[in-house]
Amino acid sequence: MVQVMKIKNILDQKKLTLSCEVFPPKREGNLEILYTTIKELGVISPDFISVTYGAGGSTRDKTIEIASKVKNDFGMEVLAHLTCVQSTRDDIAAILDALREENVENILALRGDPPEGTEKFVRIAGGFGYANELVEFIKAHDDFSIGVAGYPEGHIEAPSIDVDLVNLKRKVDAGADFIITQLFFNNNDFYRFRDRALKLKIRVPIIPGIFPVLNYNQFIRIASPLYGAKITSRLADKIEKLKDNPGEIEKYGIEYAINQMYNLLGNEVPGFHIYTMNRSDPVRKILGELPLPR
Ligand SMILES: Cc1cc2nc3c(=O)[nH]c(=O)nc-3n(C[C@H](O)[C@H](O)[C@H](O)COP(=O)(O)OP(=O)(O)OC[C@H]3O[C@@H](n4cnc5c(N)ncnc54)[C@H](O)[C@@H]3O)c2cc1C
Repeated sequence: MVQVMKIKNILDQKKLTLSCEVFPPKREGNLEILYTTIKELGVISPDFISVTYGAGGSTRDKTIEIASKVKNDFGMEVLAHLTCVQSTRDDIAAILDALREENVENILALRGDPPEGTEKFVRIAGGFGYANELVEFIKAHDDFSIGVAGYPEGHIEAPSIDVDLVNLKRKVDAGADFIITQLFFNNNDFYRFRDRALKLKIRVPIIPGIFPVLNYNQFIRIASPLYGAKITSRLADKIEKLKDNPGEIEKYGIEYAINQMYNLLGNEVPGFHIYTMNRSDPVRKILGELPLPR
């Protein structure tokens, strides 16, 4: 009998949760490597593993497959990401039913980015235009615990952080139980965002998303405007200096994440969500350096 646990309840019970995000590998053969990584992450006893949902194509089915494996074979709690991209209500209903079949209890409800080659997100006929509509649909469809995305520096399409926060509130009012943030490198952005959210009576837990920079190419990618996260000059200067020394970049990225999390620990965060980039070692190193109340 598989134990059923909603993230909403885990957040209620625990002083600090720990979660690790993984993504479905593009190549079929790399699935076994990912499973080994997830098992290694099990050593740090994460409260849940989150599995991203591809922008399109074959990796989408993989989200259900991986989520099922994590839950039913590895016995770990799982959060399956789901987007509105190119899906009708019926498509979404079928995915929700498939997730339910696999004992998945938790969904991260997202709008998703515009499909590759397009600039603007377009609602398809019979589909959803914004994540709050997806939250509402999931809530009416079945009893899942629902998370949503939050953007400490504002979502790139939003005219201002305030407007974006009003839209975040729509997602919470529609039934979201918790928020996981986009990566950020300056904790003050997170604290400001949290204060403003509270002023809007957004009272669900806001879990900071932590992204340890592990290599130069990855750093260049997240520095692009698509991520909407400012790179601090301290981080940028250092990474540029270490450009030709991959080992040192990883070391510094880990150190930066530890410092960031140390500061957050002293400021009453409900948990940490780590963007693992499908690697376990850096996560274990980071957590080994932190006095986590678990
Ligand atoms: C923790 C996390 C995990 C993610 N995982 C994935 C993943 O697995 N797969 C993937 O493809 N992408 C993922 N993303 C990226 C995400 O899909 C994009 O950032 C996307 O552009 C926005 O999704 P959203 O759910 O935040 O959208 P929304 O909340 O719908 O917001 C999108 C934009 O519309 C505005 N808006 C929202 N609601 C309304 C409304 N009702 N009326 C008018 N304007 C509105 C917002 O201010 C914002 O500018 C993730 C992001 C985060 C932070």
